[in-house]
Amino acid sequence: MIELTDVHKSFGTNHVVRGFSAKVEKGEVVCIIGPSGSGKSTILRCMNGLEGYDAGDITVEGIRVDRRARSIQSVRRQVSMVFQRFNLFPHRTALENVIEGPIFVLGEAREAAIERGRALLARVGLSDKEEAYPGQLSGGQQQRVAIARALAMQPKAILFDEPTSALDPELVGEVLGVMRSLADEGLTMVVVTHEMGFAREVADRVIFIDGGVIVEQGPAEELLSNPREPRTQDFLKRVL
Ligand code: ADP
Ligand code: MG
Repeated sequence: MIELTDVHKSFGTNHVVRGFSAKVEKGEVVCIIGPSGSGKSTILRCMNGLEGYDAGDITVEGIRVDRRARSIQSVRRQVSMVFQRFNLFPHRTALENVIEGPIFVLGEAREAAIERGRALLARVGLSDKEEAYPGQLSGGQQQRVAIARALAMQPKAILFDEPTSALDPELVGEVLGVMRSLADEGLTMVVVTHEMGFAREVADRVIFIDGGVIVEQGPAEELLSNPREPRTQDFLKRVL
């Protein structure tokens, strides 16, 4: 579904992504792990065109991700993103946050968007918070609204950039639980995370990157339990 071929990206003289190639199949859950500053967020942002890349190729279902092409709008719609900071509209309720995209981007009728929005909030366990504003919700609840909002765009895949890193520890589980259920339902997901337990249990494949290149990748259990590369071993020793 998503294919990256020898992708390079620099910020000025800082060569951040140095030849990244990977494929994400439909229904697959791929976790990307690696040290801070290794280019994880940049790669994710390149995947849905939030960031441009300098060389190589990225395609989503065969369509090139090209920020200058008209097709970029449909790529962004098909590949939603969930951020570390939830980025909800503070002056809109949970339900309004969820229905905004469907109404204004997808052109859905308001009544239909509300009906679907309600169902999505139920799916993330927030039926009783439809009318709450972000400031009245915990971080975990806000992130679940953000996930419902991403789902509302009916994407083919969702990219998660450290979705639990900004949360108090006791709120991490509720967000990972929602993500796990989406994985079980067959959603295609790329997840940048430091939650190794989640990666081990939910990911089909784990990619370890360092310095903008893939050092090692493989089935989650294998990579996390028996990393072959010294750099992977060092990293896992520090985070586990
Ligand atoms: P990670 O998500 O793995 O922590 P990032 O992809 O955020 O890493 O960043 C990789 C490198 O790119 C870092 O050195 C960071 O400072 C740099 N970088 C990221 N975004 C920008 C930007 N918009 N402008 C300049 N430098 C950036
Ligand atoms: Mg990052």
